[in-house]
Amino acid sequence: MNALFDPRHLTRNILIGMALGAAIGTVLNLSGATPEEPGFLAGDLFQLIGDVFVRSLQLLVVPLVLLSLIVGTASLDDVRKLGRIGVKTLVFYIGTTAIAITIAMGMAILFRAGSGFQLDLDTAFSAKESPGLRAVLTNIFPRNPFAAMAEGNMLQVILFAILFGIAMCLAGAPGQRVLAIAKDLNEVVMKLVVVLMMAAPFGVFALVGKTFAVQGFSTIAALGQYFVLVLGALLLHMFVTYGVLFKLFTGLNPMRFFKQMRRVQLFAFSTASSNATLPLNLENAEHNLGIKRSIGSFTIPLGATINMDGTAIMQGVATVFISTALGVELGLQGYMMVILTATLASVGTAGVPGVGLVMLAMVFQQVGLPLEAIGVILGVDRLLDMVRTSVNVTGDAMVSTIVAKSEGEFREDIFEAEEPHWEEMK
Ligand code: ASP
Repeated sequence: MNALFDPRHLTRNILIGMALGAAIGTVLNLSGATPEEPGFLAGDLFQLIGDVFVRSLQLLVVPLVLLSLIVGTASLDDVRKLGRIGVKTLVFYIGTTAIAITIAMGMAILFRAGSGFQLDLDTAFSAKESPGLRAVLTNIFPRNPFAAMAEGNMLQVILFAILFGIAMCLAGAPGQRVLAIAKDLNEVVMKLVVVLMMAAPFGVFALVGKTFAVQGFSTIAALGQYFVLVLGALLLHMFVTYGVLFKLFTGLNPMRFFKQMRRVQLFAFSTASSNATLPLNLENAEHNLGIKRSIGSFTIPLGATINMDGTAIMQGVATVFISTALGVELGLQGYMMVILTATLASVGTAGVPGVGLVMLAMVFQQVGLPLEAIGVILGVDRLLDMVRTSVNVTGDAMVSTIVAKSEGEFREDIFEAEEPHWEEMK
């Protein structure tokens, strides 16, 4: 029983939960479970456990981001450093997303994705307007910080926390007193993440079991080319782009990085939500990767909202696939439009399951592709969503490590250690 709850065996236990979930889910699928009639196990029991688990992690997102960011900002020895860190982080986030979408579109064009595919446009899908640049920028500024927290609007919460942290730095003794309290609160919330993670193997089991039970695997065969291309581009980006950038900018071993990230990746895979993975990614950044809080508290939450490389990859392949199948020539201008809309749509969109499709609808709207076409790839989206969420969270941690290392806010001994480092880092 103890081994089940031992934090040292967490990764292994999550893996076992995932494998068992996949096996039982497949059995349920073969015995007739469908999305409409999932049956008691998948539809009720697994759903219940999965929902409770994801919610209990989501409840930590706002307090954790707020507290760790306030502490992170207020602990910076020099507030001017914040500007430099911000610029570096944004350059890497935008740069990696641009590489991601270029790989995706390049591969899709190279392999002539969608040519000869018969599109059956009968499923309805509606789109929201893609937000303009002005709206995206205005929306970062909260009118009311409590409303921002209540709505879980992460960019607004991030902005408020940074301003508050800066003011604490400037306020002298009162600022220091608030900092001491915020630090203690942050430790407590962080502890809660660790406690809730004990339930992860069960939560993961239920989530994966449910997905495999209702996932129609026959749809994957029909969309084989699309599926393989998205998957290929995701894996290429994760291991080659991230691996090379990591080595280039930190000089550290990328295999070690992937090893230290395993827990977070498995978790992102099972929940298909960067948002729900945020607490664990923050915790892992500090205790397993050796990123100091002054950096991680800023870069990781920011990445969870604005850096979605995996999602950009799916959008790139999907756009080429559908436009080719329809015989529509998008041209270079159209492709540029896709990149711009995909990037704008991702800023301020919370990372939750399936949100990539909503963003794709905005892209289609912008370049004039029929929204109904999205219905075609809907059937295989969940599995791809799981993989691209792993890519999304890995990208956040990779960039954070680069920034932390370049700022000297990095502990190599923790990065190299086999066991997580639990003591508070100074
Ligand atoms: N589920 C993804 C995430 O949370 C977003 C998406 O691509 O749908 O990062």
